Parts: sequence; structure tokens; C-alpha cells
Amino acid sequence: MPEVDRAAASRAAVSARRARAAVKEAVRSGTRSALEVAETAWDDPGSPESGLRVRELLQALRGLGPARASSVLDELGIAEVKRLGGLGARQRVRLREYLRARGSGGFRGRLVVLAGPTAVGKGTVSSYIREHYPEVLLSVSATTRAPRPGEIEGVHYFFVDDDTFDGMIDRGEFLEWATVHNQSRYGTPRPPVEATLSSGRSVLLEIDLQGARQVRAAMPDAVLVFLLPPSWDELVRRLVGRGTESSAEQARRLETAQVELEAQGEFDVHIVNDDVRRAAREVVDLLAVPGGAPRP
Ligand code: 5GP
Repeated sequence: MPEVDRAAASRAAVSARRARAAVKEAVRSGTRSALEVAETAWDDPGSPESGLRVRELLQALRGLGPARASSVLDELGIAEVKRLGGLGARQRVRLREYLRARGSGGFRGRLVVLAGPTAVGKGTVSSYIREHYPEVLLSVSATTRAPRPGEIEGVHYFFVDDDTFDGMIDRGEFLEWATVHNQSRYGTPRPPVEATLSSGRSVLLEIDLQGARQVRAAMPDAVLVFLLPPSWDELVRRLVGRGTESSAEQARRLETAQVELEAQGEFDVHIVNDDVRRAAREVVDLLAVPGGAPRP
């Protein structure tokens, strides 16, 4: 091969490798499903997807290390070195079935709901998690309340007006929603939660008790966590100490807190919030799915 052609061929090989790496990364991050990548490979034999080794596609899936990928390849009757585009008809059928079952079955991520009485420190624990465990996917709620100083649109909440919130309810876009403290409305947008769970990753919701009950009804597999104050006196101290609400508002929140404390029996896990770091660690540990995605 002449020198120029060789250089061009090696550039083409590098760019093909880069394109395949991008495909793997998209599957790893959950932006693309492995099934859709395989279908693209079979629709277009010249695509980067087509050149991707089946082993590499499998290893981009959550919870599938090299050993497990080898045994899956073995079960599917696919040789280690096979690329997606090189699979025979029967191998395609088997791989398609496997990826379909994985996408809809037992490899879903876990939905963990953090609730508890008002002022117990749910917000502090979730902020701690947001800051110290950036790999944890915290659902961003929509709310009709105004932003507090320092709160960022799309990070802490999506701040919306009443009409927008009504529209989201009408279109069935909420996994759950509630009016909290008889004041503003808060809701969990359903599509991002669904997409994340289907990709095998876990999601954390920090919501009120009414919302937690709706999630239990809609998704019985969800893990419901109740954050407890070290004592009632401590809860009162934290509520008054925050100083962001009027005294009428404080009284209303205390009343809500009392009713909410009585609901702890409905929850799967109880965590005492006497130390934010430890409480956060315990919540994060619950997001790991045995046999599925590794710890977030
Ligand atoms: P804050 O206004 O202090 O941010 O939140 C007030 C309350 O609303 C907290 O108890 C918080 O857990 C709850 N909350 C936040 N987002 C949601 C949500 O999407 N759904 C429900 N049901 N409650 C939420």
C-alpha cells in the first residue's frame, strides 16, 4: 500500500474507533439503549454500531463485568470476537431477546424515596448527597413556589407557574404530586425517572409524605425511607432555628410534622438524622441494586 493510502487508512481506523467509543459511552451513561444500538447496527452495516464487538456492548451495560459478559456470550452462542454487524440471523434474534428482557425486566434501577417530617433535615441530607455523591441521580421536582436565594432553576427545582403545573397534571407528566403545607404544589416529573430506571440506574426522590404514598401505590418496588429526628424537641429546635418561615407558618409546619411522624410505620427503612454524613451514606447505600447496577 502506498504511504499516503496507509496514512489515510490509519486515520479512518482511528476515527472509527472513536465513533465506537462514543456509542459505548452513550450506552454506559444511559443516553442510548443497547437494544437500539444493536438495531442500528443491523439496519446500517456501514455504521460504527455495526463495527462494535458484542462483548463491548454487553460490558457497557450496568452490572455486567467481563466474566458475566463472557457467560452471556456463551449462553447466546456468540463468539468472543464477534461484531454486531457480523452476527447471523439466529444470533441476532437471541441477542435482541436478551437485551429486551434486560431492558424491561429485573435489571431496572431502584427507586428510593426519602421522606420524613418537616424540618427533619431531608433537604440538608439531599443537598449533602447532591454535593458529595455527584453520581447519584436526584430527581428534580417541579414546584409552584418562588425560588429561595441561592436556589438554581433545574438543579434544586423547576420553578413553574400554576398554569404550567396544571398542564403537567393534565398530560399525566407527574409520577406523583401534592400540595405541601397547604401552600405550594410540588411534583416529580415522570419521564426522567422512568428513563433512568429502565437504563438500570437508581433514582432518589426527596418528597413529602403524601407523595411517598402515591409512589408506593404507583411503584410497589420503591424503597421508602423515613428520616427521623433524634427527638421531638430537636425537631422543634430545627424548625424554629431555620428562621425562614413566619410564626404562623412554623405552627402550621409543626402540626404537619406531628401527623407525619405517626406515619413512620408505613416505611421500609428508618434512618435517624443525628449526623448528616452518616444519614446520607445510609441513603446512598440503599441505591445499590444487588446483581444489577454497581453502587451509584
Ligand atoms: P421546600 O419548599 O422546603 O423546598 O420543600 C417543602 C416540602 O416539599 C419538603 O417536605 C419536600 O420534601 C417536599 N417536596 C419537594 N419536592 C416534592 C415533590 O416533587 N413532591 C412532593 N410530594 N413533595 C415534594
